[in-house]
Amino acid sequence: MLKIDCDKCIVCGICESTCPFGAITIQDDCPVVNDTCTLCGACVEACDVEALSIEVAEKKVQKDIDDWSGIMVCGEFRHGVIAPVTYELLGIGRKLADAREVELSVVLLGNDITEYSESLIHSGADKVYLVEHPDLAQFKEDTYGYILEKVIRDTKPEIALAGATAIGRSVIPFVATLVGAGLTADCTQLAIRESDGMLLQTRPAFGGNIMATIECPRTRPQMATVRPNVMACLPPDTARTGVIERIDIDSALLESRVEVLETVQGGEESVNIQEVETLVAGGRGLESEKGFTLIKELAGELNGAVAASRAAVDSGWIPYPHQVGQTGKTVCPKLYIACGISGAVQHAAGMQSSEVIVAINRDGSAPIFDLATYGIVGDLYEVIPALINRIREVKSDS
Ligand SMILES: Cc1cc2nc3c(=O)[nH]c(=O)nc-3n(C[C@H](O)[C@H](O)[C@H](O)COP(=O)(O)OP(=O)(O)OC[C@H]3O[C@@H](n4cnc5c(N)ncnc54)[C@H](O)[C@@H]3O)c2cc1C
Repeated sequence: MLKIDCDKCIVCGICESTCPFGAITIQDDCPVVNDTCTLCGACVEACDVEALSIEVAEKKVQKDIDDWSGIMVCGEFRHGVIAPVTYELLGIGRKLADAREVELSVVLLGNDITEYSESLIHSGADKVYLVEHPDLAQFKEDTYGYILEKVIRDTKPEIALAGATAIGRSVIPFVATLVGAGLTADCTQLAIRESDGMLLQTRPAFGGNIMATIECPRTRPQMATVRPNVMACLPPDTARTGVIERIDIDSALLESRVEVLETVQGGEESVNIQEVETLVAGGRGLESEKGFTLIKELAGELNGAVAASRAAVDSGWIPYPHQVGQTGKTVCPKLYIACGISGAVQHAAGMQSSEVIVAINRDGSAPIFDLATYGIVGDLYEVIPALINRIREVKSDS
């Protein structure tokens, strides 16, 4: 917190005028700070008489830190299937567990989910904690959050991983708060530091221009979310064996303040671009909403879906669920065709691990060509119709 020493203060007013947030006002011969203060320290630096200082709370280390062991994946089950990110987390979780020589577990909540347990073991888990109940058929933040808290407190994993999906993003920060742990969101790399076994959580920072590696040394579990399509799954090994443990939940934990009235399956607008093999993406180079008619035509010929850069989404040409990139979705299709997209780092962050990238851009020096497997320098309004015609010719010949 910001500490003010009124005895030292000479009421010069520099702190008031320096504060970028207007958080300081001079009242009764001494500065007063309000709750918009961000502790940026600008006033402390500006004060010539050292009347201001930032007091850092003593950081407490959790007492039972050594009792926490093992890696836990918070699995996700929705619309009758295990979300692919669960298998991806088991892939990276297996590597971390092997590096720490500990057990890899997964906790799965839902109704009628027993039959899916084996697939989790085949994908790397040593143990599956099943929390199965008809009241868990629908995702609800409060019940899911309190149950995950209970499972984590009872089983004490040193690391807990979850998907940065709509469900993960809504419930995992709640769980981290309940258990009093730190949380690193949207990690793109996870590794164990050999010297002390600390989880190194790497994620883009400052608009994607640098990668920050974060550690949580004082609390357990170390919690991280990872976006879908960032980590690789292990090839399923049907010979793997593991333990399935059912967890019975007190009925009080199933009480929810949330009532799900209806679940609506999205239409074409909300095709999950993270789950298709071919994406044709349009950017500002389309110049107008109409350009997406051409993009849709090409996507249709290739049985693919339509994606977009943020510039296209911000222009209102296509809804947000189609956005790829740092503030959109991370995709990893077999084929990604970028049309009129420059390849800014924030866009690249969401598509650079696509298997084959084709870039169509009239500027031969656009950064997208550094990522592209194949590049076509030209006007997309000439190149795309020519491509569509050629695809149709090939189809009619076969
Ligand atoms: C914090 C932050 C988060 C962000 N998150 C995202 C994100 O999630 N996703 C994202 O995409 N961006 C994101 N951005 C924005 C990003 O920095 C870029 O501004 C954006 O990606 C640019 O989109 P674009 O490539 O479509 O447009 P531009 O950069 O304007 O590129 C348009 C391209 O089209 C080409 N072109 C023009 N006309 C034609 C034509 N007729 N034929 C062929 N080529 C043509 C041009 O040569 C140019 O290369 C973010 C930015 C910030 C600061």
